Amino acid sequence: MKANVTYWLDETAKRFPDKTAYADEKKEITFGELRFQARMIACELTARGLFKKPVAVFLEKGVDVLVSFMGAAYSCNFYSPIDVDMPGSRVNKILEVLAPCVVITTAALREVFSAYDYRGDFLLLEEVLAPDGRQETEEPEREAALEAARRRGVDTDLLYVLFTSGSTGVPKGVTINHRSVIDYIDWVTETFGITEKDSFGNQAPFYFDNSILDIYSTLKTGATTYIIPKTLFAQPVLLLEYLKEKRINTIFWVPSALIVVAKLKAFRNVDLSDTLKRVLFCGEVMPNKQLNVWRKFLPAVQYANLYGPTEITDACTYYIVDREFSDEEPLPIGFPMPNTDILVLNDKDEPVTGEESGELCVRGTSLSMGYYKNPEKTREAFVQNPLNQAVPELIYRTGDIVKYNERGEIIYLSRKDFQIKHMGHRIELGEIETAVSSLEEISLCCCLYDEKRQKIVLFIEEELEKAYINEKISRLVPEYMLPNKLIRVEKMPINANGKIDRVKLKEYIK
Ligand code: AMP
Repeated sequence: MKANVTYWLDETAKRFPDKTAYADEKKEITFGELRFQARMIACELTARGLFKKPVAVFLEKGVDVLVSFMGAAYSCNFYSPIDVDMPGSRVNKILEVLAPCVVITTAALREVFSAYDYRGDFLLLEEVLAPDGRQETEEPEREAALEAARRRGVDTDLLYVLFTSGSTGVPKGVTINHRSVIDYIDWVTETFGITEKDSFGNQAPFYFDNSILDIYSTLKTGATTYIIPKTLFAQPVLLLEYLKEKRINTIFWVPSALIVVAKLKAFRNVDLSDTLKRVLFCGEVMPNKQLNVWRKFLPAVQYANLYGPTEITDACTYYIVDREFSDEEPLPIGFPMPNTDILVLNDKDEPVTGEESGELCVRGTSLSMGYYKNPEKTREAFVQNPLNQAVPELIYRTGDIVKYNERGEIIYLSRKDFQIKHMGHRIELGEIETAVSSLEEISLCCCLYDEKRQKIVLFIEEELEKAYINEKISRLVPEYMLPNKLIRVEKMPINANGKIDRVKLKEYIK
């Protein structure tokens, strides 16, 4: 029984001390080095008296981020990655919620961070990790303190907090504990038969929950994860050549990344038939039209559609593609993972029958412990199971509308609210509206998503240019949230309830 994910690292470092665990463009780290460096960080955190405390990690995406995550985990603290490209005001909002006890970063990035509303402690990697870590001996007293801390920890202690878009403009911190990750990774590695012989090609940013699969499957089994340079995702041929060169046999990407490859038919230039073994995806709808291109060029690969929000530790249902689909058919999100119960509830909170649609709700170990320091939002989404009046039991209401098909597979239909997926990113349209509304010139605004053209459309009444608005709000929201199209309306239509009439506005983008 494991109460902390780092016990996996202890075991894997013993089995494969010199095997590469993670690699980025600039460096590679073996399991032995990873364990050693993570423990140096952990010893320092414990020596500073930190236990079960928030640790922010502010680093460029790469191996050092993962070393820092493990350092937090070893010491029974929990990590929260802060994207170095995120606008300052959003970082400040996250800092206000998280109130980290320490920020792990480098001396150079500390300068950047000093512009934010944070006056707490830093842990500079170059100070804690000796240039050649292996020559440093571990100090027995610090080691003993670290082990005592780890023994005190329990599996329901937090491992990480990932911030997602919040409709009111304040990002929500999804908390996940060790047990949820252990449960999920046990399922992943058993279901897909992951071993030390496998190599992952990581696409997901570390602030996105899809990355959990790559990071922890590697940690548990002794596989290797290559962190693919972001720029390659705009150059499909080079991307496939990279997979071939590194002999990457497993990828777990957002459908948007797979679609780019399919559209440009990069397979004609690079043959991956004796390299790629598994293509897993999660995070948004995967259209069969593009999946069929992948299947045509790489028929022997195992394809699987995973579904789930950050709040239930990456995924809660899955479908291993086992039959042909026409381009127009929806790909099922399949069946619940083991130790996960899916309730599809109608408006009356009763289980749906037949082909009736309802909201997908989840029960089980995978559930987040709630939004960090946000009891109100937590109470809205994590509610008492309406089918259990006997004891307290929480379910998570995903806001996703689904139905069962005649085979008993779950089919994703739509969202209940204004949350969208745009190029793989989870966005609350309300967050963009809040940012635009904050501009002096704006009286009323509304954001809609044009699914067909995959564009964020902003409606305003004022005569302003899109470039002007985007320049102003780029200080408030990440680049991927900037509206792609602006429509000016004489007067914002209002419905009977006195709210902006979104149905009417939708007609403009048909
Ligand atoms: P995130 O928290 O970023 O993982 O986003 C979760 C949301 O993405 C879900 O609530 C769904 O709306 C959507 N989503 C995730 N996986 C899938 C999938 N396989 N098919 C359709 N939508 C998905």
